Amino acid sequence: MSTQNSPSLFSDTASVHPTDLTVETAQRIMRELVSPFQETETATLHSALDRVLAEDIVSTINVPAYDNAAMDGYAFHGADLVRGKDLKLKIVGSAFAGHSFDGAVQRGECISIMTGAMMPRECDTVVPHELVQKVPDYEITIPAGAIEPRDNRRFKGEDLAIGQVALTKGKFLRPADLGLLASLGVANVPVLRKLRVAFFSTGDELRSVGEPLDPGCIYDSNRYTVFGMLARLGCDLIDMGVVKDDPAALEHALRNACEQADAIITSGGVSVGAADYTGKILQQLGEVAFWKIAMRPGKPLAFGRISSHEESALLFGLPGNPVAAMVSFYFFVRPALLKMMGSDADGLPLMRATSQSTMRKKPGRTEFQRGILSNDARGNPQVRITGAQGSGILHSMSQANCIVVLPHDGGNINVGDQVDVVLFDGLI
Ligand code: AMP
Ligand code: MG
Repeated sequence: MSTQNSPSLFSDTASVHPTDLTVETAQRIMRELVSPFQETETATLHSALDRVLAEDIVSTINVPAYDNAAMDGYAFHGADLVRGKDLKLKIVGSAFAGHSFDGAVQRGECISIMTGAMMPRECDTVVPHELVQKVPDYEITIPAGAIEPRDNRRFKGEDLAIGQVALTKGKFLRPADLGLLASLGVANVPVLRKLRVAFFSTGDELRSVGEPLDPGCIYDSNRYTVFGMLARLGCDLIDMGVVKDDPAALEHALRNACEQADAIITSGGVSVGAADYTGKILQQLGEVAFWKIAMRPGKPLAFGRISSHEESALLFGLPGNPVAAMVSFYFFVRPALLKMMGSDADGLPLMRATSQSTMRKKPGRTEFQRGILSNDARGNPQVRITGAQGSGILHSMSQANCIVVLPHDGGNINVGDQVDVVLFDGLI
């Protein structure tokens, strides 16, 4: 349903058709061919979580708006401190968060102050309660060397100053961002419209959960992993079920998807030669390349743009094997969808870990292994692979908490080698 005009997806890349693209080349082509859409809407803070910010947010206030105490204690003139000497101060009042002290604090005086309370204009230093000896309501003594002038004071605007860009366009809004926006007094934010993604599985052998499993059939699992991965990206989803390996059914589903969605994700039927008509229909409806990518698992991938009745949508055809479908989604579809959504998020961060497993690896393709990352006795990251790595073994994907990425040119991995991993979960 996207209305963004895209002249010819493959005009510049005609030469790039099939034969074993590297992962990096395929990722780069996708990144170049996908453009962010521009439609924006307004979201309240509660509904802005996991949305993409459509404009820079500039702070219109200082945060904090006034100098305040960073600790519970006593506020006083830092200039009263004399190196090597105890300091006695008379208590002349108190300030609480939300209730400032209205009088003046003279040299040799202090007020009791709570964290977040406004500093009296004359004071620049706070000594925490636990560092002083006191005669309650009357006097405190700060032992020599306990504190330096200007300690424990938060400055006006130290978090954000007026005019400073607080959040930039393209930011995927996380919990901290909602808090930051609230700290600026912002109640509504401009966000990009949600991406609408239609998805279906293809295959005569597929049965949906709830249906009996006929001989020779399997349950459709990809539709649920794809659903989960898309939901995590905050897309609006259209689940189109299972589509038979039948040209008319496929064309109908694709046209239907195209008229409703910005992007279409299918799984199965993209292996070259497996279902030739899939390719033909896709070519009739638009420009779609069937790539063979130098990777394992997941070699086949279809990518392009198709149209129906003036509406067009990007198409990502994932391989049918359940692990291959997930890996292809994470490393190709996810970054492309994020770019379409207007997000400035970069690729998935890689971290290094020491391998606890030997891994057989052929140079000349990128290999993705399912791994379990943990800490060794000294707290350093280590990773072992989850047993059988067949591209249909979804169980091992479920056991894994990361993917080990073995680069294109590398060979076998021995125990003790450093490897790159991408974590499934982050604290966000
Ligand atoms: P294909 O890519 O259609 O040749 O499928 C490759 C393998 O993945 C075959 O063993 C299929 O049965 C299996 N497969 C395809 N689609 C799905 C799906 N949606 N859920 C589970 N397995 C699938
Ligand atoms: Mg199939």
